[in-house]
Amino acid sequence: MLYQQIDEKLDEKRNWALRRQLGIPNNKKLWVLACMDERLPVEKALGIGEGDAHIFRNAGGLVTDDAIRSAMLKTQFFGTKEIIVLNHTECGMMTASGDFLSQVLQDRGIDVDAVEIDPALPELKLPKGVFSTWIKTFTDVDDICLKQVELLRNSALIPQEVAIHGYIWEVETQSLRRPYERLSEKVNTALAMGAKTTQRVKVLT
Ligand SMILES: [Zn+2]
Repeated sequence: MLYQQIDEKLDEKRNWALRRQLGIPNNKKLWVLACMDERLPVEKALGIGEGDAHIFRNAGGLVTDDAIRSAMLKTQFFGTKEIIVLNHTECGMMTASGDFLSQVLQDRGIDVDAVEIDPALPELKLPKGVFSTWIKTFTDVDDICLKQVELLRNSALIPQEVAIHGYIWEVETQSLRRPYERLSEKVNTALAMGAKTTQRVKVLT
């Protein structure tokens, strides 16, 4: 009957529009922390679609106070059971140190020790000298990915049973990999492939 098809579609529309009121989580009960870089296509990288996840993006894909705030809300109150951290190669956050960036701002007349970091919450203040660290630059994308996972796993605001994992998107190959699992380093030479030879391994005595 046509009315059944119409009602089904209308129910779908209603449930989509009123998801939060009805307590319906996103499709995969997933929260994603990802870098804001334009070369990181989050849905494509993770093989997910519209409605599957809440996606939080910032510079670097890093655990910040607002990331924790958002993850806390999703995992404690909106049915999220899984978190994925998504960092990427050639990230802008590896192009300069926090000290360097702070100095540039100071040279532009900004007092980084006095500036409001959250204009809507002036009570939130950084101790003197912490601004450079607050910028959160990093030097190794694999290392930083694992650290973000640990930070989230250790957060008292996120339930212990939430599954938390991290991955790297390679902008140069347009593919996803696990941290430190660089397959491209294992394919070009016999040495890298661990080739078997007749040369015996010397045993040190
Ligand atoms: Zn980035």
